[in-house]
Amino acid sequence: MSLRPTLETRKAVPTMEGAGVKLHRAFGFQDPSELDPFLLFDDFRNENPRDYQAGFPWHPHRGIETITYVLSGTVDHSDSLGNSGRLGAGDVQWMTAGSGILHQEMPKGTASGQMHGFQLWGNLPSDQKMTAPRYQDVQSRDIPEITDDDGTTVRVIVGEFWGRTGPVDGIAADPQYLDISIPAGVKKTFRIDTYRRAFAYVFEGEAAFADASRPTGVLLEKEVAGQEVNIRDMSGDRTLIRFGTGDEVTVQAGVDGVRFLLISGAPINEPVAWHGPIVMNTQAELQQAFRELRNGTFIRPAH
Ligand code: FE
Repeated sequence: MSLRPTLETRKAVPTMEGAGVKLHRAFGFQDPSELDPFLLFDDFRNENPRDYQAGFPWHPHRGIETITYVLSGTVDHSDSLGNSGRLGAGDVQWMTAGSGILHQEMPKGTASGQMHGFQLWGNLPSDQKMTAPRYQDVQSRDIPEITDDDGTTVRVIVGEFWGRTGPVDGIAADPQYLDISIPAGVKKTFRIDTYRRAFAYVFEGEAAFADASRPTGVLLEKEVAGQEVNIRDMSGDRTLIRFGTGDEVTVQAGVDGVRFLLISGAPINEPVAWHGPIVMNTQAELQQAFRELRNGTFIRPAH
């Protein structure tokens, strides 16, 4: 077993998207090889409807998958293929844009104005960029939730974990997408196969993610629930942790526990030509996509 080093720990950055939605971007539009096969991760938690209700009106996607996970509030969606629906708390939509869709995504908060959820973009390999669009809408009750003896809870959204398999299937990048809650002071180790690129995103509480160069932490100062907790190097709300190569990560929850996403996938290792919501392999393919958008041939007829 070898511990994955934490290559980078950084806070998500306030960003404006769609028709004026304030969100926090953990990564995206920088070096796409960093977390290949993943391209972008947005956290759209918001307390004020004015900051999100303009939503994401009609826009195209091609060559990628968008994965939306709602924690509170709802997201109404409809698209050029005639699909429409509403994602509620705990629901997931895995959308394979493939050859292309036009869609809109409109967040609506709870009665008190709360909105929370995430959108991840996964890349498609060249031989699947022009595949037929596909949706997998998953309701919260169909997501396996496992609780360990120490109170750790894992929702398995995609991939295999602790003997359970998430409901999303057939994804090229072979992703694993877990929503993990660990009680105060508890230390857990999670196995992630070496070939995967992996990151964590903390969104409640805080935790210390052990580094390969400091595997047990360096400062044990506080005792919580009978365990010593490393209170230095804690990663708190809206922090991205990018892991290097190894086959496991170790997490110690802070005094209020921690909740985070742990996401990994097999790198695609292909050239990336990216503009806005369209991600292809070459500039020529990118120009072709925008030409098709202009002349109205972007959406392929169903076959
Ligand atoms: Fe979209």
